[in-house]
Amino acid sequence: MNKKPIKRIFGIDLGTTYSSISYVDEFGKAVIIPNSENERVTPSVVFFDEENIVVGEVAKESSKLYPNEVVSFIKRSMGEPNFLFEFGGQHYRPEEISAYVLKKLAQDARQYLGEEVIDVVITCPAYFGINEREATRKAGEIAGFNVRQIINEPTAAAIAYGSLDTSRKKTVLVYDLGGGTFDVTMIHISKEAVEVVCTGGDHNLGGKDWDDRIVSYLVEKFQEETSTKEDILDDPDTWQDLQLSAEKAKKSLSQRTKTPVAITHGGQRIKLMLEREKFEELTEDLIYRTIDFTREMLTEAKGKGYQKFDEFILVGGATRMPQVATRIAKEFKVTPKIFDPDEAVAKGAAIYGWKLALNDDLIRRISEKTQKTIERPENLSEMIVTKEISDDDFRQAARELADESGYTLPSVENAMLTVKNVTSKSFGVVAHNPNNEEIVFNLVLRNTGVPVNIKKIFYTAGENQKTVLIRIMESETSKVEIPLDNAIEIKKAVLHLPPDLPEDSPIQIVYELNEEGRLHITAEETTNAQKINVVVDTASVISGDEFEEAKIRTQKHMVM
Ligand code: AMP
Repeated sequence: MNKKPIKRIFGIDLGTTYSSISYVDEFGKAVIIPNSENERVTPSVVFFDEENIVVGEVAKESSKLYPNEVVSFIKRSMGEPNFLFEFGGQHYRPEEISAYVLKKLAQDARQYLGEEVIDVVITCPAYFGINEREATRKAGEIAGFNVRQIINEPTAAAIAYGSLDTSRKKTVLVYDLGGGTFDVTMIHISKEAVEVVCTGGDHNLGGKDWDDRIVSYLVEKFQEETSTKEDILDDPDTWQDLQLSAEKAKKSLSQRTKTPVAITHGGQRIKLMLEREKFEELTEDLIYRTIDFTREMLTEAKGKGYQKFDEFILVGGATRMPQVATRIAKEFKVTPKIFDPDEAVAKGAAIYGWKLALNDDLIRRISEKTQKTIERPENLSEMIVTKEISDDDFRQAARELADESGYTLPSVENAMLTVKNVTSKSFGVVAHNPNNEEIVFNLVLRNTGVPVNIKKIFYTAGENQKTVLIRIMESETSKVEIPLDNAIEIKKAVLHLPPDLPEDSPIQIVYELNEEGRLHITAEETTNAQKINVVVDTASVISGDEFEEAKIRTQKHMVM
């Protein structure tokens, strides 16, 4: 019988420095799709050339010659309201710039597979807040994708890791040090579920910081050798040149104990030998920062009843630096495993996408057979447990799908993988404490499992109050009450009150976070039931006309 392929849902790792795309092949194995330069990862760098938009290695190389026309590390600006890149009289937001990176991945994948990339799962760091997640989704939509889900990078890595051995339950610690971001996450893996226990990290710590330390050292050496005090980084050409040499030197020091580096500026050239020992000394505090974040996360995990973990796995390109594993082994008395550092995230996203596609297909078959509506994909396993769907109907659908698609029966039966997440941020409102000081009162504390729904009653401050201003705040603390300065406002909403309410009238606020970390808020004056609903889609994320225009531009532009 001819095999009938199921719908393909691709996995995309949209990284700070490199991105990649993966799919699950006919044998049920996640594979990376090489780009048109035959590389497995593509630099997330965008070069605005006269007519065209160039993405990848050529863009990265062009940064030397055209530093003002090249955008790198755009992921660090995702969800930032004020970031705009200007070129040729046009302003570009981070979502659109990221969309060009995505478009390049999709174009190259189409060329390789002869198949359009439409449905995708895109990953983002675990600690991305609401704005950054929404911006990532929008980037995918601008690129023309149907974004099935945004999942966390460490979760994706754990899925890829867990897919290798589903025979036993285990708790793993995923230490992910990428180009611009660091996160550390404790994850419980079983055959049916990938469950995040706790997460922490720093979105401004990554391989690039190690490069920057080398750059500063090189500048110092140049000044010493040429007896100048000039800040050679003011020259954009020199700056770019040093960035590239620093990254090369860093990578080379992962293999060797020393590496030669040359610095050219203003017609002068010096050469030096950078030793691994020196490099480690220059960057020691950075490693310690990751250790501190890891300890902090472990303390939180203990509070949730997770005293220990079975494995410590390293993902992200920067974990190739030998000092990472050495330091971790010393601090935590474990032997960390380097696991597919550049590819695990994209592959995990592809495996998750594949399971979604299998699940979709199973649901379609079961619905046709039983005439029952299965409203949400995650309801399927519940309905089997409650016998609303019989084991026979499920097995028969699974067997048909396995026969038609060519995938093994166990892989089809195990498609119902549940991903349980925690929120990486705390969410609250601005309120007054008993001393009448303005504080942030957190309703949802970070590392709470999602979905979650939390209600709290607040009271009006005065008699006949006309409105209540609800300031929705996001923060990275685990405390219930925090000062205003420790949180950022992500949205404001106004609840209009009926006239003549007495002081201390109750106002009920409900925070509801869904599986993907999207926030929905309702506020209600409970005596008269005046209600407002707030879906937090914030002004700092591209929307409306701006979104439509970016989409049209992205479709029109040829990406090279
Ligand atoms: P990722 O975002 O996971 O692709 O990680 C990219 C980061 O890993 C960049 O900062 C790279 O410079 C760094 N990286 C890649 N390969 C190596 C290597 N062999 N040694 C040290 N760092 C590396």
